[in-house]
Amino acid sequence: MRCLVTGGAGFLGSHLCERLLNDGHEVICLDNYFTGRMANVAHLRDNRNFELIRHDVTEPILLEVDRIFNLACPASPIHYQFNPVKTIKTSVMGAINMLGLAKRVKARILQASTSEVYGDPAVHPQTEDYWGNVNPIGIRSCYDEGKRVAETLFMDYHRQNKVDIRIVRIFNTYGPRMLPNDGRVVSNFIVQALNGEDLTIYGDGSQTRSFCYVDDLIEGFVRMMNQDKIIGPVNIGNPGEFTMLELAKEVLELTGSKSKIVYKPLPGDDPKMRRPDITLAKSALKWEPTIPLRQGLEKTIVYFDNLLKSK
Ligand code: NAD
Ligand code: UDP
Repeated sequence: MRCLVTGGAGFLGSHLCERLLNDGHEVICLDNYFTGRMANVAHLRDNRNFELIRHDVTEPILLEVDRIFNLACPASPIHYQFNPVKTIKTSVMGAINMLGLAKRVKARILQASTSEVYGDPAVHPQTEDYWGNVNPIGIRSCYDEGKRVAETLFMDYHRQNKVDIRIVRIFNTYGPRMLPNDGRVVSNFIVQALNGEDLTIYGDGSQTRSFCYVDDLIEGFVRMMNQDKIIGPVNIGNPGEFTMLELAKEVLELTGSKSKIVYKPLPGDDPKMRRPDITLAKSALKWEPTIPLRQGLEKTIVYFDNLLKSK
């Protein structure tokens, strides 16, 4: 199959391109390089089944493809809040353009949605039938509401135009190829620990997140795309739930760093807890994560250690 991966030069996209090539597919990687890097896919460029296109998903594009993985969108709060209007345009116009393409060429299309559609959740753990608790006018809204509209567009193109859609709701995912200045908590803590800098906990560190290692996430993506039973949305994440203080201590222990923990103000609308209910993924996709946090952190620390030493 010929697969289009939008946001293919980003953290998750580059792992997905690699996996699809290994599975024997042709891959077109499309990116505007806002948070993606050519270096993430440099090792794939000699593969005759791989093609790279500089393009912005807010503009239409015509391509002959069988499958579309729509990942284009900055995912870290510091990046999606840098130009919030562009972020929501990317989610909404990107979805319209990619769904239009899918409709035209009859491609199956998967949307990389997010646990952020649950906002600051009043239901815990989060099941797919929970409608969420999202502030429509806050600093995270450009991302959360953009992703919610994208889900709406996917469902409407499916109901109205019979477009063959899939929706996955991704929970916090980490691993090699995150940017050192990405701003998300796992990369921040690891880079700070390796550099001997203070680990910055926002708030009192009691807020929780559930962290999924990238290889597990990609397996979930591929299973979702390859099955015919369910269009989604399906939660893909690791149900292991940790406070940010626990995460900081784990990183300090694994790196052997003498860094201290410091406390900074909690950003606005920061969700207090987040944990996926993955009953649906287990039954529909026969998927569950296999890499526990400690093991995934060890692999990610090796990656950042090498990266920082090479600079
Ligand atoms: P990332 O920032 O590394 O990747 C996003 C990619 O999209 C980058 O390569 C960026 O350059 C590209 N991009 C951004 N705007 C674009 C545009 N207008 N046109 C074309 N390309 C554009 O982030 P990631 O962690 O790899 O996330 C990938 C997708 O998964 C995003 O849609 C994100 O919302 C979703 N997601 C990720 C997580 C996570 O924990 N990593 C969690 C939930 C959802
Ligand atoms: N966070 C933190 N220190 C950091 C970066 C983030 O304590 O240096 C917190 C952040 O406030 C949030 C959690 O870690 O409560 C996860 O943040 P991230 O940006 O990784 O993901 P998201 O908030 O989008 O789930």
